Amino acid sequence: MPPRGSGEPHPTDGSRDLTRAIDRLGRRLPEPLQPLAEIAYNYKWSWTPGGRELFRAFGAHRFGLTNENPVRFLRDLSEPDLLTWATDERFLEQLDRVANDLRDDLQRPDSPSLDGGPVAFLCAEFGVHRSLPVYSGGLGVLAGDLLKEASDQAVPFVGVGLFYRRGYFHQRMDRSGWQQEYWIESDPNVMPAVRVTTADGSPLTINVPIWDGELDAHVWRVQVGRVPLFLLDAELGENTPLQRWVSSRLYEGNSSIRLAQYALLGVGAARALDAMGIKPSLYHLNEGHAALATLAVASSLSAASDSPASHSGEAIEQSRSKFVFTTHTPVPAGNETYSRDEVLSVLGRLFDELHFDGHEVLALGRMHPADAAEPTGLTPLAIRGSRSTNAVSQRHGAIARAMWHEMFPHGGTDDVPITHVTNAVHLPTWMAPPMRKLLTECFGDGWERFASDPILWKQVDEIDDERLWDVRCTQRDELVYQIRRKVVVDRLARGEDIDFVQAGRDAFDPSFLTIGFARRLATYKRLNLLVHNVERALSLLNHDRPLQFVFAGKAHPLDDAAKAFAQRMFELKRVPEVGNRVVFLEDYDLSAATTVVAGCDVWLNLPRPPFEASGTSGMKAALNGGLNLSVLDGWWMEAYDGSNGWAIDGSVDPDEAAKDERDANALYDLIDNEVKPLFYDRDEHGIPTKWLERVRASLRTLGPRYCATRMLDDYVTQIYRS
Ligand SMILES: *Cc1c(COP(=O)(O)O)cnc(C)c1O
Repeated sequence: MPPRGSGEPHPTDGSRDLTRAIDRLGRRLPEPLQPLAEIAYNYKWSWTPGGRELFRAFGAHRFGLTNENPVRFLRDLSEPDLLTWATDERFLEQLDRVANDLRDDLQRPDSPSLDGGPVAFLCAEFGVHRSLPVYSGGLGVLAGDLLKEASDQAVPFVGVGLFYRRGYFHQRMDRSGWQQEYWIESDPNVMPAVRVTTADGSPLTINVPIWDGELDAHVWRVQVGRVPLFLLDAELGENTPLQRWVSSRLYEGNSSIRLAQYALLGVGAARALDAMGIKPSLYHLNEGHAALATLAVASSLSAASDSPASHSGEAIEQSRSKFVFTTHTPVPAGNETYSRDEVLSVLGRLFDELHFDGHEVLALGRMHPADAAEPTGLTPLAIRGSRSTNAVSQRHGAIARAMWHEMFPHGGTDDVPITHVTNAVHLPTWMAPPMRKLLTECFGDGWERFASDPILWKQVDEIDDERLWDVRCTQRDELVYQIRRKVVVDRLARGEDIDFVQAGRDAFDPSFLTIGFARRLATYKRLNLLVHNVERALSLLNHDRPLQFVFAGKAHPLDDAAKAFAQRMFELKRVPEVGNRVVFLEDYDLSAATTVVAGCDVWLNLPRPPFEASGTSGMKAALNGGLNLSVLDGWWMEAYDGSNGWAIDGSVDPDEAAKDERDANALYDLIDNEVKPLFYDRDEHGIPTKWLERVRASLRTLGPRYCATRMLDDYVTQIYRS
């Protein structure tokens, strides 16, 4: 079954390689189980009901040990393991259902919502699944969610990124709570990925001039439903060790290497798509990293045209209609810049080859092109090279217009041509099975396709208290179960005393109010507010209305301030009640995220305004019936309506210490005066009816707005079509 990419099948786009890999894996399986091979090579199983259970049937723990990588898992299963299920009628029925679901999905025609070739979505990271570790946090997960949604809506789409052999770092805390980093190498040969080959069977090789040499890269194809994700890989014998490092680690600490990565990503994406015969109707730059794609496309257009551009600005002008850009960074410092010498040393050869004047390109990357002293960044290049720029929430739109105003000096801030499409999350990925089952009973089969329809969500008001509470308790139970398992191992690995390790076995209580905070530990996320006033923080735990708190997240390896925040939390670990009521989950990733967002009753977000462009983890919690308690910044500023969660003031205050003090107190007050009473006030059946009213309001108002169905609709109608 050749997976359909978009439009006509391309002989060299890796689809043939995928078919072969499926055949090869299938031949190792007993005949009735062969459809498992098709399923394993397409991540669609991860969001199809019953898909994950197929693999877990062979041993949930063992599947987990492979990071739920189905290709590696199936390859390692023994004959007797396989034969158990090859004759099990119920298993085979389920297998048949999931396999048919996949085949039907791949055979559907493309949605007519867009003409021409596919949208090529370029991003430095993709968070598709825990077994494909090429993401660090929110940006990557958003990119993965958008690919999945494009697949669900049959919008012609291809993703392009880098195959980081060592991915993002793994985290281990030492006993003092200081973060240590380590990297694990992944082997694409045992992953659901295939190396794209040309007609003669040799690997497709693309080439990008970087530093003083030519860097070669191969292309891996990963199937995300109907959408192919192409990942460029420089780990080749013919490259030098320095060149190989370019696709080694995500967000490498060295800025020249990052620049080289972005050249491979941008220019490599355009070249790889071209070599595979894929002709995008549009390139979507998700964040500025891939902005150099504009130069590659401009150069090809100029070469093919009768009137080649006479200078760089004009060339970029010719390719602008092919690019749209999404900015995710609301602070100037987040938009990285590079000195003239650095740019020319990494990219000088590339500019020559593309017939661009290096100094003109440097100018295109400045806020003020004429100011030769200003360093160059990829965001101004992306803005200039794209026909549209959008931010990722309403408030971020206003911030971005003010931030880039000087690039558009004619007119006021409101005239700056930057719009917004608020981020959202892929519902079938993030809504846990119990909640999804409840809503299917209430909304009817196949409701997910209409998930952006507010009328549908009105029906949550008809769900009775008992069933809704039952789902919430089931999901909290699962979280507590997972926390107990993980905390013991984390403590053992840190070398904690055995009594502290043992205490982890009954960490948490399935009936207690459970609050979560998990995301990248950037300093602006203000994890420190939780223990701003230690005494008050501890009194929250000890009250006769108990609460328990789970937190997790990685600090950037160079961000010592963020590491210190996490360490402060660890200082309290010996305080009675803290040891088993406050847990830190090490090495936060997509797998932990799924359970944590599904099980928490309250999801905290405490960013320093206006630094949260959008934030998405709160949306994941909301889809699971969790309630948000968040600073009014990013998405929450437009989502909060007084009835669907709780809010902390979102104003900007240059006096950071004063703001922290106020916000920490607001947080403690809300928990004491509103959250706890609402959660612990029960009716005669032990059900918190007022709490559930709020849960319903949250589902009803946030469900239709913050599912990726709405987000992709917005991109198609407001950004892609025009
Ligand atoms: C959703 C997600 C994030 C984003 O969290 P924010 O609160 O939006 O910053 C980060 N990491 C993982 C693993 C996620 O799934």
